[in-house]
Amino acid sequence: DGEVVMDVRMGALGSRGVLLLADDLTSAERVEATRRDFVANVSHELKTPVGALTLLAETMEDAADDPDAVRRFAERMQTESRRLSNLVQEIIELSRVQGTSALPDASPVEIDDVVRESLAANRNLALGSGIEVSVGGDTGLRVFGSAARLTTALSNLISNAIVYSEPDTRIGVSVHRTRGMVEIVVKDQGMGISPEDLGRIFERFFRVDKARSRSRGGTGLGLAIVKHIASDHGGDVTAWSKLGEGSTFTLRLPEMGRTGTIESSATGRP
Ligand code: ADP
Repeated sequence: DGEVVMDVRMGALGSRGVLLLADDLTSAERVEATRRDFVANVSHELKTPVGALTLLAETMEDAADDPDAVRRFAERMQTESRRLSNLVQEIIELSRVQGTSALPDASPVEIDDVVRESLAANRNLALGSGIEVSVGGDTGLRVFGSAARLTTALSNLISNAIVYSEPDTRIGVSVHRTRGMVEIVVKDQGMGISPEDLGRIFERFFRVDKARSRSRGGTGLGLAIVKHIASDHGGDVTAWSKLGEGSTFTLRLPEMGRTGTIESSATGRP
């Protein structure tokens, strides 16, 4: 543990280098523990759909003479395959954003484009769920970064808002400019999140209701991906919620001025 490390280093280097080294080692240990944790979680999460598929295939083989049963099993296998493919895709996406903080295709990004593409990506989901999405606020704002990743982030927030809401409710997406930052706010009238769970929703694989998330195709990775993308852009993402009333997620990014500079020098990354 940290104390032992400090004693060892103290003998070798004297007191000045001690704190830094001890800190470095503990953070390296922390990274390693996080990595091990991630691998364990991934294995566990992958085993569920793979196990279900194996079992379904075996049972289907036994029911080979009954066409109706075969059709039912085939449908369930398709559902499980879709889930598995969704999960693999999100694991890849998370590894990608976790791997490096460098943005692959960094350039000036029009927020209007990010909003439009994110809405288009969720159009069918919203229609199928009977949920109306409205858009408002400032237009013409720009940030510096990856348009594709920002679209992934906003799209995740919008799909959550749809998935965790009841039919015939509304979702609002709005853009605001405040103190050198661009704020993209996604507000729903859904089920909400309890104060205890709210502190954990950005953790990888955390789901308030595993069964509910799973039945809606959730993986528990969406918000972890959003958080990474936000911080890679020098921004952040926050959540506010009240059980039974709804949730509001705010993605904040340093604004890029018309001259090509980032207007927030505190958090901005050129
Ligand atoms: P998932 O794939 O399960 O949706 P996320 O990382 O996107 O994973 O979200 C983590 C959990 O946070 C979800 O399982 C859900 O319980 C909760 N959550 C996320 N967004 C909302 C929302 N808009 N309303 C209510 N609960 C939400």
